[in-house]
Amino acid sequence: MLSLEEAQARITGAISPVEPIRIDLTEAAGGIVREAVSAPLNLPRFDNSAMDGYAVRSADLKAACGDNPVSLEVVGETAAGQASTGPLGEGQCARVFTGSPIPEGADAVVMQEDVVVASQDESSRSRILVSEPVAAWEFVRLVGEDVKAGDLLVTSGKRLSPGRMGLLSAMGIEKVSVARPVKVGLVATGSELREPGEPLQSSQIYESHRYSLAGFLRQLGATPVVYPIVHDDFEAIRQRLELAFAENDVVLTSGGVSVGAFDWVKGAFQALGGEVDFWKVAIKPGKPFVWGKLNGGFLFGLPGNPVSAFVTFLLLVRPGILSLQGVDSLELPSHPGKLTEPVSNPGARRHFMRVRVDKTGNISLAGGQGSHHLGALAEANGLLDVAPGSTLNANETVSVLRWEWS
Ligand code: AMP
Ligand code: MG
Repeated sequence: MLSLEEAQARITGAISPVEPIRIDLTEAAGGIVREAVSAPLNLPRFDNSAMDGYAVRSADLKAACGDNPVSLEVVGETAAGQASTGPLGEGQCARVFTGSPIPEGADAVVMQEDVVVASQDESSRSRILVSEPVAAWEFVRLVGEDVKAGDLLVTSGKRLSPGRMGLLSAMGIEKVSVARPVKVGLVATGSELREPGEPLQSSQIYESHRYSLAGFLRQLGATPVVYPIVHDDFEAIRQRLELAFAENDVVLTSGGVSVGAFDWVKGAFQALGGEVDFWKVAIKPGKPFVWGKLNGGFLFGLPGNPVSAFVTFLLLVRPGILSLQGVDSLELPSHPGKLTEPVSNPGARRHFMRVRVDKTGNISLAGGQGSHHLGALAEANGLLDVAPGSTLNANETVSVLRWEWS
């Protein structure tokens, strides 16, 4: 049986990223950048005021104090968006607002709250009184202090997060190259399964994977295509797989990959010419798991049990979908925390237990650990990797794998 790492390496090693598309930045939020973007501009673009106040020459205010305030002549006013007033001479200042360019000669801003506006003098210009010195460059946002023209803004493989979207727009970038949306067909197999809204006969259950995985896929930036439930019938499964492979880059099936008499997925896939690369991974839950290739598309055959399908999605499908998009980091984020209870795995496979991490980092089991315990899964926000034949003690510090919606 393959180790998890071997299985992951075989999946990600076989997948090359889909071709990029060049689209308007406004359409690209959440997409995976496929061509690095460098800064065409400095940020800030010019020295500008961080406050509403007065641009001054700090040297003029060296001796300012409460008993001896310095009087400055206000020679101009610049609102944000206006060109700055002319150079300031000795004893002069200019009214500025947040974002206004700093006039030439000025090297600091005094907040408007810290000045007294004196009456107009004989030349009908306003004057202000300042009773404290100001450090050079106080309240001035310097050109290029955040980002310098030519700096790398985002590299290939990074997701266009809200912060990156803001940065690229601030740079006036109109178009970006991102991975095209990856289409993923979701095929649930099982004669016992019913669609939501349908009445249940005894021994029937509602299907529960397609919509949970569709949400996950959307969050990863892929486009899920949900197909109707297929019964445990070789020909029906073969036909559905044929259609799903024609319409998608990836097909995710659930159920029917074990060794039961009705487990047709692997055989139907092979009948279409699909190549099964492996179908067992040494993890719990999720031992039966099929991975294979067909005409440039990929099959992930997930186990039918809801928890097994969810866990194998996180550990094996997620890195595959991210590789297809060209994402540069495939691992689930791992966070340390403290166990509130002992946890043991007497079995022979690594057990990815469903846990709940609270705000302070305390980790407890999310509930029953059976591969059918969907109630516990819904409460979980992490996976704890427990080695075969091992026990972890209460209060031990351990690492938990988290996911996007945890
Ligand atoms: P299988 O892998 O097809 O043998 O299914 C294993 C278990 O998971 C059985 O109890 C199935 O009824 C259940 N199961 C399979 N597929 C689904 C599904 N899509 N939704 C809910 N339960 C399922
Ligand atoms: Mg089944």
